[in-house]
Amino acid sequence: MSILYKSTRSDAPAVTASRAILTGLSPDGGLYVPTEFPKLGRPLSELASMNYRELAYEIMSKFFTDFTEEELRTCIANAYDSKFDTEKIAPLVKKDGVYYLELYHGATIAFKDMALSILPHLMVTSARKNGVTNDIVILTATSGDTGKAAMAGFADVPGTKIIVFYPHGGVSNIQRLQMATQRGENTYVVAINGNFDDAQTAVKKMFNDKEMAEELSAKGYQFSSANSINIGRLVPQIVYYVYAYCQLLASCEIREGDEINITVPTGNFGNILAAYYAKEMGLPVRKLICASNENKVLYDFFMTGEYDRKREFILTSSPSMDILISSNLERLVYKACGCDPEKNLAFMKNLSETGKYEITPDMREQLADFRGGFASEAENFAGIRELFEKTGYIIDTHTGIANAVYRAYAAETGDTTPTVIASTASPYKFAVSVVGAIAPDKVEGRTDFELIDVLSELGHTKEPAAITDIRTAPIRHKSVVDPENMPDEVRRILGVLS
Ligand SMILES: *Cc1c(COP(=O)(O)O)cnc(C)c1O
Repeated sequence: MSILYKSTRSDAPAVTASRAILTGLSPDGGLYVPTEFPKLGRPLSELASMNYRELAYEIMSKFFTDFTEEELRTCIANAYDSKFDTEKIAPLVKKDGVYYLELYHGATIAFKDMALSILPHLMVTSARKNGVTNDIVILTATSGDTGKAAMAGFADVPGTKIIVFYPHGGVSNIQRLQMATQRGENTYVVAINGNFDDAQTAVKKMFNDKEMAEELSAKGYQFSSANSINIGRLVPQIVYYVYAYCQLLASCEIREGDEINITVPTGNFGNILAAYYAKEMGLPVRKLICASNENKVLYDFFMTGEYDRKREFILTSSPSMDILISSNLERLVYKACGCDPEKNLAFMKNLSETGKYEITPDMREQLADFRGGFASEAENFAGIRELFEKTGYIIDTHTGIANAVYRAYAAETGDTTPTVIASTASPYKFAVSVVGAIAPDKVEGRTDFELIDVLSELGHTKEPAAITDIRTAPIRHKSVVDPENMPDEVRRILGVLS
């Protein structure tokens, strides 16, 4: 069966997977969605004997149908290798009655590694398949985490360069060090005298700059983007939900066909959408619990059917979820309105023009698989601390949101379905907040690295290599530019300055 991808915003002809990966966003501004959902096709008990790479092939080959077996297997082998610090890639651990799916064993110790370690390989393969001979230049504006994970994925991948812009003084010290020490001859990091929005706006402008595209093309380059709406990021995320189920089967925690719940700490709605896609493929999932922090746009949406971004933006200790426009939600809205691009476009137009939209009661019925929840800073911290005191297990502040939301849900509903929580970052990545939750008296007067040592002692775990590395790695990237000079900085980096 061959799967194509069509836009959520028009009836433009559907494209192949490799085209969709290469272009990211549809030219009409819509997101690419598969024309139909392939089924798992084999009993889960059979899939349960596969390792991560084998299962990844099993799932991805059903979506990326224009890739040859060899192409896809090579991408997978290049992605899920010793960059991960465990052979399991995404281990599942049971603590206090809940299963934590640890998605943070990759190069930058956060779940974005799961998709960004394979995206560069999918992209280069897609370019080759479509006769593109230019080198791919990835431009990314980052508020901290995505840029680093993208660079780790693209570093030294032949045929690619990656340029990351971040707000000077606008990221944590650890995040800054992670970026500034990035290795790879094809990686470039530039701090800008501005905030994240300034960086984002300038990057978008460069993507739309036809003249610049021509200049670049003359030198053998073209821009592409690695952001989370790319189906080359979404599809690889389906794998680990099936893998979690398989691990539960293999360890006899459940029997084949038993339902599970999945709780996901959510920002841009990519990770939880992948869990929904897993359900569409036939994975027995009961509830998809969408956990938000105090920026609870999604909670309100699931409660009322109205999406309203016009509200105060709150800075929390789960910064990767501090988002008011969850881009990937568009794919769910599209599905809920019967895959009608016109209807979906009207909602998205309302969103961009008025900051909100409201779906119909019929559409709300389509979303019954989802349950929204949110946790305050205090609830998050209390949950992290309680889990630590009961079990000694330490989770980060993003996973903490899912933990608090799930435990409140279970208490309220009495639902005893086995539940997997997507554990999206290592606690070491957010050591200041995490120590603040479990041992607040130890925070004052200590530096980031001292708090990492405290965490290591409290949890009896060794700090991950990603942390050890930045303690001593040389600073390689020092440029700082004004936002209006970003295009010239890109030209300088690529050697196309006239
Ligand atoms: C990006 C991120 C999230 C949110 O994931 P979405 O796919 O954007 O919903 C949650 N936790 C961490 C640690 C992240 O980096």
